[in-house]
Amino acid sequence: MIRVTVWNEYVHEQEYENIRAVYPEGIHGCIAGFLRKDPELQVRTATFQEPEHGLTEEVLEQTDVLIFWSHARQEEFEDQVAERIQRHVLRGMGLIALHSAHYSKVMKRLMGTGMTLRWRHGDRERLFVTAPGHPIAAGLPAYIEIPREEMYGEYFDIPKPDDVVFTGWFAGGEVFRSGCTFTRGLGRIFYFQPGHEEYPIYYMEPVQQILRNAVKWCMPTLRRSTGPDCTEVTEPLEPIC
Ligand code: ZN
Repeated sequence: MIRVTVWNEYVHEQEYENIRAVYPEGIHGCIAGFLRKDPELQVRTATFQEPEHGLTEEVLEQTDVLIFWSHARQEEFEDQVAERIQRHVLRGMGLIALHSAHYSKVMKRLMGTGMTLRWRHGDRERLFVTAPGHPIAAGLPAYIEIPREEMYGEYFDIPKPDDVVFTGWFAGGEVFRSGCTFTRGLGRIFYFQPGHEEYPIYYMEPVQQILRNAVKWCMPTLRRSTGPDCTEVTEPLEPIC
C-alpha cells in the first residue's frame, strides 16, 4: 500500500467561478478521486487553509508520496512547513510537484536554483515522451496532445535533472522540460508541468496515467526515521597502517 497525500493550495477554485466550474471539488479532489480507484493507493488530501497547511509532522510521517500544487500563496506558505517537507524528502518521502509549484518554497529549497521560466496564457501543448524506458512513461504513446494549456518555456532554471521524461512543445514555438526527475537525499522527486487551473488537464486519461506511474516511482525504497547527519567513525574497518 502506498500512502499518498494530495496537497492543493485550493485558492483559485474558491476565488474564481470559471475555475470552480472546472474543478468543483478542487484540483486535490480531482486528483485524489482518480488515484483512489487504484487499490494499491491509500489517498488523503490537505490544503493551504488548514493549520500548518495540513502538513503536520504526523501527516508527513504517514505519507510515502506527497503531491503538491501551488500558485497564489507561495510566499505566504510557512517556512517551517517547507523546511519540514524538505527534511522528509531527504529521509525518503517521494514528492510530485505540479505546474506552478516549480516556484514554491518547497521546490526552491530542494533544487537550490532560481526555478524561473518563461510563460504565456492561452496556448496548446504537445507533450513528448523523451525517456520511453522510464517507469513514469509506462503505457504512454509517443506524445499526447493537451488542447489548452498555459505555455511554460525555456530557459527553465533548474539543476540538471536525473531524467527528462517529458518535453513539451507549445504552438507559440517554445519548448520546455515538462517532466523531470531529481534525487535529493533518499527522496525521489518528479516535477510535472501540465496542470494550469483553468483547463481540465487532470481529467485527461494519459495525464492520470502519468501521475499514477509517478506515485509508484516516487514510493520510497528506503526510509530513515532521522535526518542525515555526519557520523564520526571511531572504529576503522581495517587497521590503519
Ligand atoms: Zn498556471
